[in-house]
Parts: sequence; C-alpha cells; structure tokens
Amino acid sequence: MRQLVYDDDFKEIVNEKIKYWQNVSDIPKKVKDYITSLSNELIFRTYNDEYGYKDYCSNCLKELDVNHYCEHCQKSYTNLNKKYIIYLSQKYISDMKYICFYTYVFDVVDDEVILYNIENQLNYDHLAPLKYKESTLSIANIYDVKKDYLYERINGDTLEYSQIEAFFNNPEVEEKFTNTYIEFCFPSNSNQFLYTDNLDELKKSALYKYSQIWELKDKFNDNDFTLSSITYNPIYCKEFEYLIKMQLYNLAIDCSKINFGKGKNFKDIFGIDKKYYKFMKDIDITSEQFDLLKMYPTTDLALLEFISKGIYAFEVLKEYVKLEDLKKYIESQEDSENHIRRYISDYYDYINGLIMLGADLKDKKVLYPKNFYEEHDRVSAEVMIVENPNLDQKIHNLSNILSLNVYENDEYIIFPADSISSMIDESSQQQNCVRTYCERVGENDCQIYFMRDKNAKDKSLVTVEVRDGKVVQARTKFNKDIDSRQRKFLSDWEKVMIPIIKGDN
Ligand SMILES: [Zn+2]
Repeated sequence: MRQLVYDDDFKEIVNEKIKYWQNVSDIPKKVKDYITSLSNELIFRTYNDEYGYKDYCSNCLKELDVNHYCEHCQKSYTNLNKKYIIYLSQKYISDMKYICFYTYVFDVVDDEVILYNIENQLNYDHLAPLKYKESTLSIANIYDVKKDYLYERINGDTLEYSQIEAFFNNPEVEEKFTNTYIEFCFPSNSNQFLYTDNLDELKKSALYKYSQIWELKDKFNDNDFTLSSITYNPIYCKEFEYLIKMQLYNLAIDCSKINFGKGKNFKDIFGIDKKYYKFMKDIDITSEQFDLLKMYPTTDLALLEFISKGIYAFEVLKEYVKLEDLKKYIESQEDSENHIRRYISDYYDYINGLIMLGADLKDKKVLYPKNFYEEHDRVSAEVMIVENPNLDQKIHNLSNILSLNVYENDEYIIFPADSISSMIDESSQQQNCVRTYCERVGENDCQIYFMRDKNAKDKSLVTVEVRDGKVVQARTKFNKDIDSRQRKFLSDWEKVMIPIIKGDN
C-alpha cells in the first residue's frame, strides 16, 4: 500500500509506502473479514447469583431462547465454544455503549514487530480502531523497557488508575513507550481476540525468530492467550521456546509465572521426576495443574482436580493420609459430590483436632470413620473442652438453674443447652453457628435453649437465644424463620420465663 505525502522539506509530494495502519481503510481485508466473522458469532453472557447465566444476542442485546435463537433478529447462534462467549455484567448489557471487543494483530514492518489493537464497538455498525498511536505497540519499544516493570504491567489483570500512574511516573520507563502504551488495552481475557493467520510472518523478525510462537496458533485461535504470552514471554523468557518444543504449550503461555529451577536435567528444571513428562504432555498441563503435580506427584488427573479444591488443606493433610485414599473416602460420604470443598475443610479441622488430642493417626478407623460428621463433631467438642477445661462445667452448672425454665405444651418442649457437646450437636443438625456461642453461654452473657417436638426430643427443631428474660433469636434449620405455631409457643413461654440475669447464679 502506498500514500502521497510531503517530503521532509515540505517541497514535493512523494509516493511513499505506508508503514502503519492509521485508519480503517489501512487494515488488510483478511483482518477485517476475521473481525466481521467474530462479531456475527459473539454472544454475551451474564452470571446471575442463583440461576446460573443468561445469554444475549450481540446484535440487538435481547435475551436468547434456550436454543440460542434470537427472535428479534431471527438468527441462531451455533458456534458456542468459549471463544465466542463474552462475559459481561448486567450493567453493561443494559448500557450498550460500553460494549466492545478488541482484536490483536501482529505486523512486521522493516524488521520491527508491531502489535495493533483494533477496537470494535458493537453499537456502531463498523470497525472503530483507536487512533494509530494509541492502538499500536512497537515490540521493539517494549524490549527497551526494563523488564520487571513490563512484567508487572502485563501480568496484572486489572490495575487501578493510580497504579498505572505510578508505573508511568517512573523515570526508567521511557517516554516513547509511555505514549504508545498508556492507552493500550490490557487484557481482560474474555473480550479480546488474536488474529492468527499471519503468525508465521514473525519468523522473519529478529525478536521472534527463535520463539516458535507460531506453534501456538491453534491455542491462540481458541483464545488461550494473554498479552504477556504474545509479547513478554516469547521475547524475555528463554523457557518459552523450549516449552513449545517439548509440546508443553500451556506452560509456555504462562512461563513467566513459573519458577523453573537451574540445572541441566528435567528434574532440576521442573522440580519433578522425568517420568511425569509424558503425562504433562498428554494433558497439555496448565501452570495451575503443574503446581499441584509438584506438590503431589501423580498421573491421576481426577486426583489433581480433587487436590485443586483444597490446596492449603492438602499441603498439610498429605503428611498424614494418602490423598488417593482420602479422595475415595470423601467421595463415599453422603452428598459429598455437592460439598467437596466443605468436606475437605472439615476434614482438615478434624485432623488438626486429632493431632491436638494426640490421637493415633496410623489407625485407619480414626482416619476414615464410618460417619464422618458424627466423629468430626465429637472431636470438635473434645477439642473445645480441652482448650477450655472449665467451660463445659460452667455450662452444665448454669443449665441446672436454667432448667427452672423448662416448658412444654401438647406439641413442643423447650430446655437449656447443658454441655459443649449438646451445642455442637445442635449446630451440626441445624447448620447454624450456635457452637461459637459456648463461651458467651458459659459466662451467662446469653442463654441457648433447644425447642423440640415432644415426641422427637433428640432431633433439633428451633434454636433459641435468650437475653434478659427475652427471646432475641429463634431459628430453624439453616437459620430460617419459625412458623406461627412455634412463635405462639415461644411467646407463651416468654410470659412465664424466669429471667436469670448474669450475676444471679
Ligand atoms: Zn438479536
């Protein structure tokens, strides 16, 4: 492409080759076609706390039906892989002027690599690239800048404006870089794309010629990329090239976040035995999975997924149990598939409790009790008693006095908590936090009573908190409100209740 411009002395008009795209018409047709094909397929997705997500037509912003069909535009969205889904908050959907997406495009000009960032605002019918200076990154300029700063900038997800200012106020960051970089879009991952058809061109450039970045074409095309994986990593990290040659593509994409060891052999560099290499390659291991693998070497992918649900707990637990066995055990517990994380953190508590009580952790019956929560609660109660030797006695003594307030009608009975165990049991049955009230109850700062069905006295029904002779809280399971019959019972009880104030006992 050529353009007519004045020569340097402003004397003659000359026919000069265009180096940089300055407006929409400079963008090659293939790139424009690519962007158009994207905008035709994109859908917007919003997450809703309780009901999952909703999908919207990117053309008219109306909600799509279950088959991803837009009645308004009479259009079906069929390409539903992650590349075409843009996550937005509801606020942006209702205020469409902010909706845009970005396409990165590499270009090589006179040995210099340029990265363009083309903005496409969907509410206009056409491409709206930012002004040239603000939308291009000269990779050579990046290369000039001190790499630590660059790393922070590029790997930071979203930065506050003050952080950006602090970065650019640093005298070590060159002005020419500042000018092109400050307006450059930083990745948010879901609304950016990379044009990959010309990645081979980078073989011609001095900076990228050894990088092997073109081997990542398929991954980049699926939108597995970050700004660092196309700029910082291939240029600064020598591991990038090697990881690609080893077919560890996901690690290459994230390589600047990984601490590789020094040394010549696989184990020194990766911190794990070479026998795991095939597994790593087969699953194209991610940097998150790699961290887990180093912590607990295994070729069981499901086990790694399990470990990812409670990394900090497992770092301790792996000293006491084989995580393979623990996974099987937890999976055998009631309703565990929906509560894996809760089971893991409660199991962690359980083991810590056992350690404190000096239990035999070699005993399989101790490690894997038949009914986990029953044992868990028993251990919690014991731990609390050991930690507060007088507390259990205090609660018990107080309950003898509070028993003056035992009350019943035809249907219900109400009686005071009489031990730490009774409160932990109530807490567990009701899924509430009454177990944390033990100290307050022991000090008679408040009183806890259990209201139950007369013919099911062991089964929790309503947990009642009393202060100064008044009911201040009465909740059923999961902290739900009580019904009108239960309320009537409690108000009848309140009328005859003897207030037992702190200091009276
Ligand atoms: Zn539509």
